[in-house]
Amino acid sequence: MKRSIIVHGGAGYIKDLPAHKKGVEHAVRAGWEALENGASAQNAVKTAILILEDDPAFDSGYGSYLDLKGDISVDASIMLSNGNSGACSNVSSLRHPIELAIKIMEETDHLLIVGAGADALARRWGMKPEDLRTEKEIIKHKKLLKIISGKAASDEKEYYTKLRPFRDLSDTVGCVAMDDTGAFAVGLSTGGMRGRLPGRIGDTPVLGSGFYAGPSGAVAATGHGEKIMRHVSSYEIYRGIEAEGLKASLQGFLARSDIRDLDIGFIGLDKDGEPVWGHNSAHMSWAYIRDGNYDIFK
Ligand code: ASP
Repeated sequence: MKRSIIVHGGAGYIKDLPAHKKGVEHAVRAGWEALENGASAQNAVKTAILILEDDPAFDSGYGSYLDLKGDISVDASIMLSNGNSGACSNVSSLRHPIELAIKIMEETDHLLIVGAGADALARRWGMKPEDLRTEKEIIKHKKLLKIISGKAASDEKEYYTKLRPFRDLSDTVGCVAMDDTGAFAVGLSTGGMRGRLPGRIGDTPVLGSGFYAGPSGAVAATGHGEKIMRHVSSYEIYRGIEAEGLKASLQGFLARSDIRDLDIGFIGLDKDGEPVWGHNSAHMSWAYIRDGNYDIFK
């Protein structure tokens, strides 16, 4: 029996640890149950991510972070060990962008569709935008605007400096699963970073940076997207599997002198379904179930 599943609820400075614990436990148990009922790795990942997208504790679907203009746009991705993949980015206010990413993988010849094109596909497939703004995020956005007020237009450097403290909180969600056949899937969903410039694309929908799956395992990233992308992180970790195994590859990556100060984290499964996780950020929430054995971040 090879089944295994691990989820994350983001890397950064997590304020509400009990809400994260509850959320990742709920999602991983639902994903596991799906695997036990014979679901593919892809469907187990989808099951877990749908739950996390509905949970306002996380920066995905309902409860997504707002951009500088106060709007919500979401990104999501999926990849299977056979190389199939689909992703969407800058989609307006969609509660379940993971469903759009899966449809893009299954129904189109493309890997990544963004903006108006992704919105149009969502409508075509019956997915409607919703108001996903929570009271908590509206308050945070107002606070952010107060702190950076006037600076965005007049002094760009100042804007980025003032924005930095808001980046401590990252609640993007991700999941990696392995089914009975030994196939892997990885999926991610995010509302992106608070106060980002409209149009910004982070690592979550970028193959090789935010996620990677292959015959030897699968990896999902979370944290500061620009930093994750700069190091093509998920693929970099994946490619160490053959030589040293996933755990050593992840630990070696996080210990690198150019990586160790970055607020980023990862989850993954190796080819035996062994769960791995690690982060250089203050916190990362995660939970896994393998062969019925459950564990969660402390
Ligand atoms: N990586 C995501 C992004 O940069 C944020 C996160 O993981 O919380 O959009």
